[in-house]
Amino acid sequence: MDRMKGKVCVVTGGARGIGKAIVEKMAKEEATVVYALDMNEDALNELENAYSNVKGYVLNVTNRENIKEFVELAKNEYGRIDVLVNNAGITADALIQKMEEDAWDRVINVNLKGVFNMTQAVVPLMLENEKGSIVSISSIVGEKGNIGQTNYAATKGGVISMTYSWAKEFARKGANIRVNAVAPGFILTPMTEKMPEKVLNSIVEKVTLKRMGKATEVADAVFFLASEEASYITGHVLSVNGGTIL
Ligand code: NAD
Repeated sequence: MDRMKGKVCVVTGGARGIGKAIVEKMAKEEATVVYALDMNEDALNELENAYSNVKGYVLNVTNRENIKEFVELAKNEYGRIDVLVNNAGITADALIQKMEEDAWDRVINVNLKGVFNMTQAVVPLMLENEKGSIVSISSIVGEKGNIGQTNYAATKGGVISMTYSWAKEFARKGANIRVNAVAPGFILTPMTEKMPEKVLNSIVEKVTLKRMGKATEVADAVFFLASEEASYITGHVLSVNGGTIL
């Protein structure tokens, strides 16, 4: 399969879970290179060893200096970035009365400001080349809200509104830069595996398809939006939730 042939792709949080599935999909679809950006160096090394077209880069999306250095490196190596997937994200759940300020700040910094940091650093290169595709990972929690996830819901709702704004802003001068988001439901990854079984069972009851999603199922949707097959889709939020009714 070669639907990413010739493309330079960047995936944040690419070392495990949904991000890893996206990196693997792009690598198998013959991207020229997939830069997997993450803080987990060991997992990045494993990915590099498994795929000749994957390059791991240790990066924290809250570190603007580090991001600048990365974009400079990509520019020197390939002269462009065709696809940016803003996937890195964390949770720090608590009811609002019990949510520490630090839990609010950490989640905002990674999930919201991290997406801002990455996009702000990458988009000038896309604008120079007058093309590109950006896909950010939101969540059903950003669409519908969830108990105990005030901070997370705020960031994932923010990702949706940034997507709508950027779709308009980046296409202003006729540049072919598409900006979309994917809103997964509840997906089995290391992020959700730590949830109690009772909670997971109660979630599954709300899913029309009566199961959790797989990381590869989210990766397929992200891949579609990132690819030329979605050439007339921008400013769109694609829900990938098995028909979850919250
Ligand atoms: P995960 O915890 O399994 O993996 C997240 C990856 O991001 C890890 O490799 C981690 O090292 C990396 N990461 C975390 N903070 C980072 C930072 N500051 N800089 C760079 N990398 C960082 O999570 P996942 O379940 O694969 O989730 C991926 C994305 O999908 C997240 O944005 C998450 O909010 C979103 N999402 C997940 C679900 C789900 O059910 N799993 C549902 C909806 C949305």
